Amino acid sequence: MPATSPEIQSFPMTGTSLLAKPSSFPEEEEESKSTVSLLKSKSSSVLSATGRSSSTVVVLSILLLTTCASLIAAFAFAFLFFSSSTSSSSSAVKNRSAFRSVTTLPHPVVLLISSDGFRFGYQYKTDTPNIHRLINNGTEAAPGLIPVFPTLTFPNHYSIVTGLYPPYHGIINNYFVDPVDGDTFSMSSHEPKWWLGEPMWETVVNHGLQAATFFWPGSEVKKGAWDCAPEYCQMYNESVSFDQRVDTILSYFDHPEDSSKLPSFLTLYFEDPDEEGHKVGPDDVMITEAVANIDRLIGRIIDGLEERNVFQDVHVILVGDHGMVGTCDKKLITLSDLSPWIEIPNSWIQSTTPVLSIRPITPSPDPADVVFKMNKALESGKIDNGAHLKMYLKEDLPKRLHYADSYRIPPIVGILDEGYTVEKLKSTGRECGGAHGYDNRFFSMRTVFFGHGPRFQRGLKIPSFENVEIYNLIADILGIQGAPNNGSSQFAERALLPK
Ligand SMILES: [Zn+2]
Repeated sequence: MPATSPEIQSFPMTGTSLLAKPSSFPEEEEESKSTVSLLKSKSSSVLSATGRSSSTVVVLSILLLTTCASLIAAFAFAFLFFSSSTSSSSSAVKNRSAFRSVTTLPHPVVLLISSDGFRFGYQYKTDTPNIHRLINNGTEAAPGLIPVFPTLTFPNHYSIVTGLYPPYHGIINNYFVDPVDGDTFSMSSHEPKWWLGEPMWETVVNHGLQAATFFWPGSEVKKGAWDCAPEYCQMYNESVSFDQRVDTILSYFDHPEDSSKLPSFLTLYFEDPDEEGHKVGPDDVMITEAVANIDRLIGRIIDGLEERNVFQDVHVILVGDHGMVGTCDKKLITLSDLSPWIEIPNSWIQSTTPVLSIRPITPSPDPADVVFKMNKALESGKIDNGAHLKMYLKEDLPKRLHYADSYRIPPIVGILDEGYTVEKLKSTGRECGGAHGYDNRFFSMRTVFFGHGPRFQRGLKIPSFENVEIYNLIADILGIQGAPNNGSSQFAERALLPK
C-alpha cells in the first residue's frame, strides 16, 4: 500500500518503549572498574614515592612488573573468553564488536525465525540447550515479548515485520469482512489491498538488497518491489517438513562470500507449538514435546551455520507471535443467554473468541445502544460468567490496545477475561483446549524474543517490549532506513551494540 494511504498518514507515532537502558554485567564490569582504580591508586603511590630511596624504587619496579603481567593476563583471558562461542551468560561487554575484527559475510544478515504460539516460559519446559545457547550468548526480552492486540497469528506476524499496530497495517484479525466493499479477508488472502504498510522484505529490496522468505504471513503478497520470486519466496504449504524448511534456508549460506546470492533478510516459520496448544492447552506433555522439537530445529540451524563458518556473523532472531492459555467449558459465555435484554443476530457477529467483534447490519440499531444493553445483561448476575466479558464501542477501548483507528474494525468489540470463551449458542461438552487473542496485558499471551549475533550483547536481558519495535531493530542491523512505523526510533540504539 502506498504511503499515501490515509490510514498510514494518520497513524500516531506513539510507539511506547518500555525499554530501560540495557544493564550490562555487573560482576565483570565492576571487576574491571575496580582493577582500573586499583591500578590508578598504585600509580599515584608510585609517583609520590619517586626519589625517596633506592629500596622504594625496587619495590616500585616489582609493582609495575606485576601490574603489567596482570594486564597482559587480563587481556589474554578476555580474548579467550570472548572468542569462545559457548561462554556463559556473564560474558558481555558493551563493545563486544571490538573483538570481532574478522567477518565472513559481505554484508549484515538477519535470520528471523517464528515459532508460532511459543509462550514465554516454554523455554523452561524441558532441556532446550540450543535455544539456551542463543539466550546465554545473546539478548533476551525478559519477561518475554509483548504481542499486539488482538494477540492472534496474522495481526502479530505482520506487526513484527512492519512495525505497525494492526489498525495501520490493516490485518485487524485473522478473518474479517471489509465493511465498504463486503470482501472477506482470510488467512489465504494475498491481494495487496489488504496488506498495508511496508513489510521488511519490501524495505530490503527497495534498498537494492535481497530478501528470502520461507513462510511468513504476508510474504506471498506481491507489493511494491517485492515480487515473491520463486527462488526467494515460498508459497505457504504446511505439509513442507520443518527440517526441509531449515535446510532450504541454510542453502542460502552455501556461498556466503557471494553477496549477490546471499539474502540480507530471511524469514523462517514453524507452526508449532501453537497447533498443540490449541488442542491441549499450554500444560500438556504434547507442548513439552513440541518445544523440544523446536529446540532440535534451532540446533540444526546453528549446526548448519557453523558448518558454513558463519554462525557468529549471522543475526539469528527467534520470536513467537503470542502465547497460549488453557480454556474449558466452565469458562464459557453464551450470547443466546442475553436474549431477554437483546437479540444478537448471527449476521452481526464477525468473530467470537477471544475477540468478540460485532457489526450491526442495516437497518441497524445504534451501536452504543447495543453495547449498553449487552453490558446491562452481562452485569445483571443472571448470565453464566457474564462478569468476564465487557462490551465496548471500539473508540472507548483502552488506548493501550491501539485497536480503534481502522474502518475495518467493527464498531463493537468485546474483551474477555483470560481463558474465557464466548459462543453464540450453548454447545455440548468439549475437552479443554487452549486459545490466544486475549488482551495483551496478560502474561499468558506473552511470547519470546531471543537475538544472537554480532550486534546482540551476550547474556543481556532487556525489559519486555512490544513487537512493533522489531522492524526498526532489523533495519538498524541491516543499515537501511525503515518506513515510518509505530516503533520508537531510539529502541535499536538501546537494544543493540554499536556498529
Ligand atoms: Zn499464532
